[in-house]
Amino acid sequence: MDPQAWAEPQAEALVQEMIGLIDARLPEVVSEHHEGETVKFLLKFPDGMVVEAVLISMQAGTTLCLSSQVGCKRGCAFCETGRMGLLRSLSVEEIVVQVFVARFVLKAPVRNIVFMGMGEPFDNYDNVMEAIAILTDPGGWGFGPSRLTVSTSGCVDEIYRFTKDADPALNLAVSIHAPTNELRNRLMPVNRKWDLTELKKSLLEYCQHPRREILIEYVLLKGVNDGLEQADGLAEYLEGLRVKINLIPYNSQRRSRFESSDEGTQEAFLQRLRERGYQALLRRHKGRGIMAACGQLNTRENSRSSIMRQTECTQG
Ligand code: SF4
Repeated sequence: MDPQAWAEPQAEALVQEMIGLIDARLPEVVSEHHEGETVKFLLKFPDGMVVEAVLISMQAGTTLCLSSQVGCKRGCAFCETGRMGLLRSLSVEEIVVQVFVARFVLKAPVRNIVFMGMGEPFDNYDNVMEAIAILTDPGGWGFGPSRLTVSTSGCVDEIYRFTKDADPALNLAVSIHAPTNELRNRLMPVNRKWDLTELKKSLLEYCQHPRREILIEYVLLKGVNDGLEQADGLAEYLEGLRVKINLIPYNSQRRSRFESSDEGTQEAFLQRLRERGYQALLRRHKGRGIMAACGQLNTRENSRSSIMRQTECTQG
């Protein structure tokens, strides 16, 4: 075969690929809000969809909280993003570009990455895992796997996949938010598909690996899930798992039917878990005033388009 005949299509493909790369413009940073050590920024993609990412400066370095979807289909009762419904999942490039913008446009010294922004990362499993592969590639971004955390509301099938696929140093966070199925069904519809028993089985398998530990997230809702009997229920549920517990004070919002637990209740819940032998922390309110805390990510632009889509669908 004439080497020239082979080389030309290859070279053309390469040129096209490079043009594509150059054309893949950065998303527009449409706004940037600062509150103390927290910065929320909104990125607009060429199709007009907007996602949010948050930079949180802590003693251990700057953490970037990424979005994996525009909106979310899981509909947790206390979550702003859940109210939007799912508009679409992000591509691998759209996930990775959030790190690029944080690092090179906003000049943030990103040290840790958490998939806790908009969306359920395990509902976009393949793209999230490919983005993680890119971010942890020693020849590229080079983030150590232990610097990345993927958070799920409890998608059991994907927890099993993650257990098989993921580097054991990658961190998994799981939102529990209620110690009984009755309450969790009301707060987190995902529980109707995979209840606490199913979830526990998957977490036990995950913990088979000696290096693996789970970060348990529990948002404290006044009078709903913040009693000492619920702390005891949570402690019992977690028996046999290697976990750290992160208690999150709820960030009350005008439209919400939930309120934040008072500080005494939060402390009592924390102490009860510690008395039961758990390593537990109460996350302080960072980013509260700029809607950048857990379950508060929503953008007006996307909310509007979501409502418009719903209207179109019901008229269709
Ligand atoms: S809390 Fe997470 S899983 Fe639940 S609706 Fe919000 S973004 Fe989705």
